[in-house]
Amino acid sequence: MKTSGLTIGIVGAGTAGPAAAVLLARAGHRVRLYERAPVNLPVGAGFLLQPTGMGVLAQIGVLEELRPQTAEIHRLHCVDRRGRALLNLRYEEALPGVRGAGTHRATLLNLLLRAAREAGAEILWDHPIATLAREADGRPRLVDARGVRHGPFDLVLLCDGAQSALSPQAGLPFRVDRYPWGALWFIGKRPAEFAPDTLWQRVGSTRELVGFLPTGTKDDLLSFFWSVKLADVAEWRAGDLDAWKRRVLALVPQAAGFLSQIERHDQLSVAAYHDVRMKRWHGDRVAVLGDAGHALSPQLGQGVNLALIDAAALARSLAEAETLAEGLAAYSAARRSHLGYYQFATRWLTPFFQSDAPSLGVLRDGVFPWAGRVRWVRRQMITTMAGLKTGIFGRVKE
Ligand SMILES: Cc1cc2nc3c(=O)[nH]c(=O)nc-3n(C[C@H](O)[C@H](O)[C@H](O)COP(=O)(O)OP(=O)(O)OC[C@H]3O[C@@H](n4cnc5c(N)ncnc54)[C@H](O)[C@@H]3O)c2cc1C
Repeated sequence: MKTSGLTIGIVGAGTAGPAAAVLLARAGHRVRLYERAPVNLPVGAGFLLQPTGMGVLAQIGVLEELRPQTAEIHRLHCVDRRGRALLNLRYEEALPGVRGAGTHRATLLNLLLRAAREAGAEILWDHPIATLAREADGRPRLVDARGVRHGPFDLVLLCDGAQSALSPQAGLPFRVDRYPWGALWFIGKRPAEFAPDTLWQRVGSTRELVGFLPTGTKDDLLSFFWSVKLADVAEWRAGDLDAWKRRVLALVPQAAGFLSQIERHDQLSVAAYHDVRMKRWHGDRVAVLGDAGHALSPQLGQGVNLALIDAAALARSLAEAETLAEGLAAYSAARRSHLGYYQFATRWLTPFFQSDAPSLGVLRDGVFPWAGRVRWVRRQMITTMAGLKTGIFGRVKE
């Protein structure tokens, strides 16, 4: 089958789905995007957009409109309980002129959805897809939770997030693990104690991590996250909020003003992290994009960026291929080294910052300040943070 004028069904309007919808509709395909949420809700924590993700947004044509709704991030600064810098990474040192951008999921999503509609994609809200079925000739169909059948399609994209119910139905080998640790998060107004251009974090043992990410908008917002063991969340909800704030303040005394914006437990949301492993991200007339194919913990802050790059890589692979099967195989091949590096690095790094192994925290506090003094190592850390690595020595081609 040729790769032009395809009928494409996309499941999930998070990051990967709408980005793929724009690029594929613009390439002349007929695109229908199915999302289970009843409407576009302003949900989700702040996140850090990296130069890689920004490149895709520039290609889509929404970056300049997004920029005023972001906070320009120049530096990641992480200190230990004694106030020593574990990481002090400035983009500028290794990548002149490069910045990150703190922003909100809903802000980005609104721009992507508008671009998708303008490109001719059809967006169907309140469509929870329950089943990936096949016609007798093998073409995929989608069946929603009400039993309504959609399709058949020439191609289905699974962009339904880390807890994808459809990936197992695609017949692709995969494995999903939930991390025992996640985060409580809250978005409030940024007080002057937190620099507008720095992702600032402080760690205690591996059981204590707090972070503050400026996320822009005209209200000058700050995203706060506090590491929590998921098994302890119910106890935290039933516990004394002031006692919890005192724990946070022991680590971040300058956060007193910010924490005064939190008056109830339900102002904080809980984020769980997953580790999804797949050997390839395509099957017969099916491709998997974003967290559904390679969710990772947010330790390196890459999830949104990887999802955007998946969308661009798939659109490019289809445009360059003679047949759909070739295009899908090229997509998996194009993503292998980049995804492999970030999944490996994230799995390796996460227990040093969030785990029940305090000895790893002691090792971290000994090694990281030393490693950060070595210029080559620091430059690799910055390039990793920027989303540009494909291996210890490899780099994304720009
Ligand atoms: C606390 C936290 C902090 C993070 N920080 C960062 C960061 O700094 N930088 C970064 O890049 N990333 C970050 N991430 C990760 C980022 O949010 C995700 O990686 C990214 O949104 C992945 O996009 P996606 O499209 O694959 O999936 P999602 O954004 O999860 O979207 C999936 C969509 O599919 C829909 N869906 C699911 N099942 C169905 C179904 N059956 N039928 C129809 N629709 C369905 C869902 O409703 C959802 O809208 C963070 C995540 C967390 C939890």
